[in-house]
Amino acid sequence: MTGSSAAQGPAPLLRRTLVTSGDARAAAHVEAMLRAGHTVTVVAPEVCGSIEDWHARGLLTWHARDLTLDDVRAVDTVWNAPADDAPAAPRRDHGRVTLVGGGPSDPGLLTVAGRDALLDADVVVTDRLAPLAALATLPPHVVIIDVAKIPHGRTTPQEEINRLLVEHASAGRHVVRLKGGDSFVFGRGGEEVDACREAGIPVTVVPGVTSAIAAPELAGIPVTHRGTSQGFTVVSGHLPPSHPESTVDWAALARAGTTIVVLMGVRTLPAIAEALTAGGLTGTTPAAVVADAGQPSQRVVRGTVATIAALAAEAGIGAPAVTVFGEVAAIGAPAEVSA
Ligand code: SAH
Repeated sequence: MTGSSAAQGPAPLLRRTLVTSGDARAAAHVEAMLRAGHTVTVVAPEVCGSIEDWHARGLLTWHARDLTLDDVRAVDTVWNAPADDAPAAPRRDHGRVTLVGGGPSDPGLLTVAGRDALLDADVVVTDRLAPLAALATLPPHVVIIDVAKIPHGRTTPQEEINRLLVEHASAGRHVVRLKGGDSFVFGRGGEEVDACREAGIPVTVVPGVTSAIAAPELAGIPVTHRGTSQGFTVVSGHLPPSHPESTVDWAALARAGTTIVVLMGVRTLPAIAEALTAGGLTGTTPAAVVADAGQPSQRVVRGTVATIAALAAEAGIGAPAVTVFGEVAAIGAPAEVSA
């Protein structure tokens, strides 16, 4: 045991894990190990977008170099890529694509139909916000492709994703397109369905648990509540309200009297809160931000329309996060906070 772990009390057994590769399969194992409370170090010259993102957020350590014996000596367990992970030879008469909404990161929120599709897959094309840990148990012959889109970071163009789906399915493979949340809620699933249909590829969609509802719910916030809110509107906050291409009528939302749920709106939160206030939403209306919902790093910041942007910035909240405006945002707060 090292001096530092002794200072923090007894270190848990078998918790320091070294991962010796950085591809999407390694990312699936990393996610599963982070969920199990391991301290993860990745040593690999190159890594996929998900691992790069976790490293940037301080959730693991990544050394961009070749492995040394000292790396192995410093840990309790080592995870190596399976030796046989060559692409599977086509073994079906007809390929197809299944779009699976994977829910918000927690593999427990993947549907049974989604899990069944994964168990039948030859190729999985996955996003960063998908429940990657669910891929850790797939057999080595399943090809896992990470097309992570990181805000302001590495991205795979949508055309390239469409091309991958069509190419693998045309070669007779069952391709599962795994996404975070639901594929049709800001997930570009409709475009992927169109691309498959245009190429004559059979395509089916498995609905997923969307973060628009699940992220608030995981923080104890119901988007509707008898006597408090008779509805909710889900909007993208990607474009600030003043943006010429924004088509959201924020003033109408402010007057609607229902819960407002904003996705992709961390950067634009100050402008959104301002637009809602200008539209007539009272500054004392409760608001809450739920970040990393369903992940071990989940955080909730609560405030009001007037204070939420500053409180979220102060707390260092980053994407992915869902913001809720409306009376329901005060529900589920720990007593000491709501007092
Ligand atoms: N199809 C997804 C949404 C994709 S848009 C769904 O149905 O959930 C990406 C946005 O979703 C993020 O910017 C964030 O606002 C939200 N989001 C996705 N996963 C999240 C999570 N685990 N915690 C909080 N917000 C999340």
